[in-house]
Amino acid sequence: MTDAPFRPNGGRHHVVIVGAGMGGLAAAQKLKGENVDITLIDKKNHHLFQPMLYQVATGMISAGEIAPSTRQLLRNQDNANFVNAEVTDIDIKSQTVTAVNDEFTRVFEYDSLILASGSGQSYFGNDHFAEFAPGMKSLDDALELRSRIISAFEKAELTDDPKERERLLTFIIVGAGPTGVELTGQIAELANRTLTDVYSNFSTSSAKIYLLDGAPQVLPPFGKRLGRKSQRALEKLGVDVRLNAMVTDVNEESVTYKNMKDDSEHTLTGAIKIWSAGVAASPLARLVGEQAGVEVDRAGRVSTNEDLTVGEYSNVYAIGDLMGLNRLPGLAQVAMQGGAHAAKLIAAKVDEESTSNETEAFDYFDKGTMAIISRGYAIVKMGKTEITGFVGWLAWLGLHLMYLQGFRNRLVAVVNWAQNFFTRSRSNIEITKQQAYARNIIDNASKQEVK
Ligand SMILES: Cc1cc2nc3c(=O)[nH]c(=O)nc-3n(C[C@H](O)[C@H](O)[C@H](O)COP(=O)(O)OP(=O)(O)OC[C@H]3O[C@@H](n4cnc5c(N)ncnc54)[C@H](O)[C@@H]3O)c2cc1C
Repeated sequence: MTDAPFRPNGGRHHVVIVGAGMGGLAAAQKLKGENVDITLIDKKNHHLFQPMLYQVATGMISAGEIAPSTRQLLRNQDNANFVNAEVTDIDIKSQTVTAVNDEFTRVFEYDSLILASGSGQSYFGNDHFAEFAPGMKSLDDALELRSRIISAFEKAELTDDPKERERLLTFIIVGAGPTGVELTGQIAELANRTLTDVYSNFSTSSAKIYLLDGAPQVLPPFGKRLGRKSQRALEKLGVDVRLNAMVTDVNEESVTYKNMKDDSEHTLTGAIKIWSAGVAASPLARLVGEQAGVEVDRAGRVSTNEDLTVGEYSNVYAIGDLMGLNRLPGLAQVAMQGGAHAAKLIAAKVDEESTSNETEAFDYFDKGTMAIISRGYAIVKMGKTEITGFVGWLAWLGLHLMYLQGFRNRLVAVVNWAQNFFTRSRSNIEITKQQAYARNIIDNASKQEVK
């Protein structure tokens, strides 16, 4: 006999939210106090603020500051329950979601579903690049990168061979979007400012840092002018920016790319390769899209109706990075506003006084985008307004501080930023072997099991 699907006692409208990231958490919090029971399911036990992952990867702040426990965030919300498990199946006809945590499996029955499981790294069909060029989508990724970066400096201290030292001190970042640019800027700061005088046998400022992208400019969403300014700021930090550079191979030793302008092929040898070139929506988007008979785009995003519902299913909402609507970008604000919108529509539906069946289109309010290039230099684009330099940097700090969850995390982040600004040092550059090697060892072990 199989257990009946779970639903909370009391018979209230049951909202299942898959994913406690930017969109899912916003939806759950918006439903606080409403006449619904919420089950928020996430395979991670923390709510990750991805825009500051690169600061973890470069030792500026620690992991806990951008990844508070989701359960504790919901502590004061009586109508919400958190489940730490991976959703492996969704059946939108029988209105069930299956979630697994190791040997525990539980099936949940919902009245409304909000799908908010985000996106992962995409290697555009070249998944084998991942072994040598990790991406940066999770805390594990950021900690692995930090370990690889700092380990390279430590090993460079031990070698007497100049060629080997050059290999160890060569960093190749693929993808000049906001993540790639921010990470590149911080690696340059580590090499040229933070660590310059801490090694005896070499100077970290001899590091070579390459930023590659197939596009003709850095940061395409920011437009040509800001792209040019950002490129100049990176070059001032010593970064070698190579545009129109389509990466064709990544292996243990090197990255090969084709210059799209003249078809010439180039190979860069370096110990540290980092991938920040593409994203693919959570596979759950395709699963739901196929069941609902709606289109899923090349990046795996499920098409939604204007109100964020999926196909004929007026109780299934897709939000954030996995939703395909009006070419909206994969940004935290899109996810958070989408979560709040879905929550508002659900609350209106269950409101006993409401007699209207009318729905409301999602109207995204673009508050602008920003990226940090280096200490004291950021770019901001808000409609036609463009800000660069120190003012942009202050705006970035203020805004990101506002969106960090928890007073303590904000305070610690400010202390860390101030420490780095005034003293150069970073408090979080400890590394462990587990962080550096575990991902590939686990991947290889599971491949062996499958054989
Ligand atoms: C490094 C980096 C930097 C970024 N910088 C910026 C920035 O500066 N500004 C900006 O606006 N945006 C930025 N973004 C994009 C922004 O973070 C995303 O657009 C936003 O997080 C999307 O929200 P979401 O709720 O759709 O997904 P996410 O926030 O990614 O949340 C998805 C959640 O679903 C969970 N999940 C996934 N699959 C399952 C499953 N099968 N079962 C259970 N749980 C699951 C995940 O664990 C995760 O917690 C950045 C992204 C990255 C990776």
